Amino acid sequence: MARAGGARASGYEGLGAMQCPFCGKDQDKVVDSRSSEGGRAVRRRRQCLACGRRFTTYERPEDTLRLTVIKKDGSRAPYERQKIIAGLQKACYKRPVTDDQIRHIVEAAEESMFRAFDRDVPSSFIGDAVSIRLRQIDKIAYVRFASVYRDFADVGELIDEAEQVRDVPVPGPDQRDLFEDGKGQ
Ligand SMILES: [Zn+2]
Repeated sequence: MARAGGARASGYEGLGAMQCPFCGKDQDKVVDSRSSEGGRAVRRRRQCLACGRRFTTYERPEDTLRLTVIKKDGSRAPYERQKIIAGLQKACYKRPVTDDQIRHIVEAAEESMFRAFDRDVPSSFIGDAVSIRLRQIDKIAYVRFASVYRDFADVGELIDEAEQVRDVPVPGPDQRDLFEDGKGQ
């Protein structure tokens, strides 16, 4: 209903504390707020009062995304972008991956979810859609993320995957920039 009115009109202005992705406490202060995605979301930079680390939340009107995640055991849960972002932020801790890159990963993954499914998305698809994109940006973060979100049968399989990532060249962020911006040079 508040669609045309822009970010200000909708009812998600609350600065309610969010759970820290690092220590799990839900006491934080907002250090920066700005609208994002053309006013469809509010991006907040938060600092955890318990552990002092910073993280970013994107708050969107509830009806922006209506996807249902089908988990492996068949149970269903509403898709929550924030959970994916929290998982990525954790995997990217102290890695050279920016919040913008994380947001782009999630947006691209969501696009592929919408393309492939009407409404019900298998959790394995989400894990793959996100991790494939993360892998192109940072291999360490990818292995961390994949170890949580992809079901490896055992540690050996995870190590195999890590070794494969090391051996297979994928374009890093620098090279990607060249491809995208450096055409004229
Ligand atoms: Zn914390």
